[in-house]
Amino acid sequence: MIIFNRPPFTGNEEKYLIQSMKSLKISGDGEFTQRCHRWFEEKLGCKKALLTTSCTHALEMTALLIDIQPGDEVIMPSYTFVSTANAYALRGAKIVFVDVRPDTMNIDETLIEAAITEKTKAIVPVHYAGVACEMDTIMDIANRHKLFVIEDAAQGMMSSYKGKALGTIGHFGTFSFHETKNYTSGGEGGLLIINDENYITQAEIIREKGTNRSQFFRGMVDKYSWVDIGSSYLMNDLSAAYLWGQLDIADEINDERVNHWKMYYKGLSGLSKKGVLELPVVPDSCLHNGHMFFIKVKDLNERTNLIEHLKSHGIHAVFHYVPLHSAPAGIKFGTFFGEDIYTTTESERLVRLPLYYGIKQEDIESVINTIVEYYA
Ligand SMILES: *Cc1c(COP(=O)(O)O)cnc(C)c1O
Repeated sequence: MIIFNRPPFTGNEEKYLIQSMKSLKISGDGEFTQRCHRWFEEKLGCKKALLTTSCTHALEMTALLIDIQPGDEVIMPSYTFVSTANAYALRGAKIVFVDVRPDTMNIDETLIEAAITEKTKAIVPVHYAGVACEMDTIMDIANRHKLFVIEDAAQGMMSSYKGKALGTIGHFGTFSFHETKNYTSGGEGGLLIINDENYITQAEIIREKGTNRSQFFRGMVDKYSWVDIGSSYLMNDLSAAYLWGQLDIADEINDERVNHWKMYYKGLSGLSKKGVLELPVVPDSCLHNGHMFFIKVKDLNERTNLIEHLKSHGIHAVFHYVPLHSAPAGIKFGTFFGEDIYTTTESERLVRLPLYYGIKQEDIESVINTIVEYYA
C-alpha cells in the first residue's frame, strides 16, 4: 500500500521531547517555544512569531486582533479549508467568497476589488499547495481600501513570493503544524506571524487569556492582570520540542519534498503534453515547498474512476476541498460574489498524489506508472 501521507518524523524529536519533559517548564513559552520563535523570526524575516495550538486558532486570533464585528465582511476563496472562513464567522463576519484562478487554485486577485463594500474589513488569501497568491496586487488593493490582509499560509512554510517568505507580506500570517503539513509539532499546532508592530502586544495578550503575562515574564510590569478579551492559544513546550526536532533539518525536509514534486512533474509531463491531464502551475514569482502534488483530470467522473483505479493498485490518492460556498455553513455565513466559473469545476477535477517526507522514490515511480497505464 502506498499511503497518501505520513506525518513528518526525523528521529530528532525524541531527544528534545525528553529534554523538555525533564525541564521544569512544559507549559507555554518555555525554552523550546523561545527557540522556535527565534528560528521563525530569523528564517522567515518577520517582526514577531508566536506558536499557537493550531492554524485555526492563529486565524481566530487575527479575527480578534482586527476587531471583527457582526456584519463585517471578509473576502476569501471558497476553495479552502473550513477554518479560513470559520475563524471570522465565529465573530459574526459575513464571508464573501470570490472565484479562484484555474492555474494555481488561488484567489483570483483581479476579482477582489469588485467584491469590496464599505463593510469589508479584510482579505484572506490562501496560498494553496504552498504556491503564493499574487501578493503585490492584493497588498495594493488592501492599502488603497485600508483593509487588513491575513495570509493563510497553513501550507506555505518555507515558500516565498518575490523573495519574501509567505506569511510575512500581509499584516498577519498563519501556519499549521498539523500532521498533514510539511512540519508538525506532534499532530496539532500552529503559528501566528505579526508583521505590523502595532499589534504585537495585543497579540501576546489575546494568546495569554487576555492577560499581560508575557510582559510580566519579561519584567516589563510588576504584576499581571486581566487587560482584554483573549483565550488560551499558546502551544505547550513539549509540542514545541517536537517541532524543534524538525526545524533542525528544515531545509533538508524542504529539498526532499521539492525533489519528490519534481519527479512527479517530470514523470507525468508526457500525459500533460498529450492533453490528457493538467499539471500544477507555479508562477515565476513563487518558490514553493513541495507541499502537495496534484493533477487535474477531465471531470468528476474521470477523477472517481482514476482514484478507484489507483486504489485497486494499492495507491491512496485523494481529492481535496469541497468549495465552502456550497457547504451548509458556507450558505449560512457566506455568499459567493460574482460567478463561480472555476471554483466548483476545477475542484472536481483535482486529485492529490502521495507525497511526504520519507516517501520512497520507487513508490513515486509506481504511482506515475500506474497513472500512465490508466491512460494507455
Ligand atoms: C491545514 C489548514 C488549516 C488548518 O490548520 P490547523 O492547524 O489544522 O488548524 C487552515 N487553512 C488551510 C489552508 C489549511 O491547509
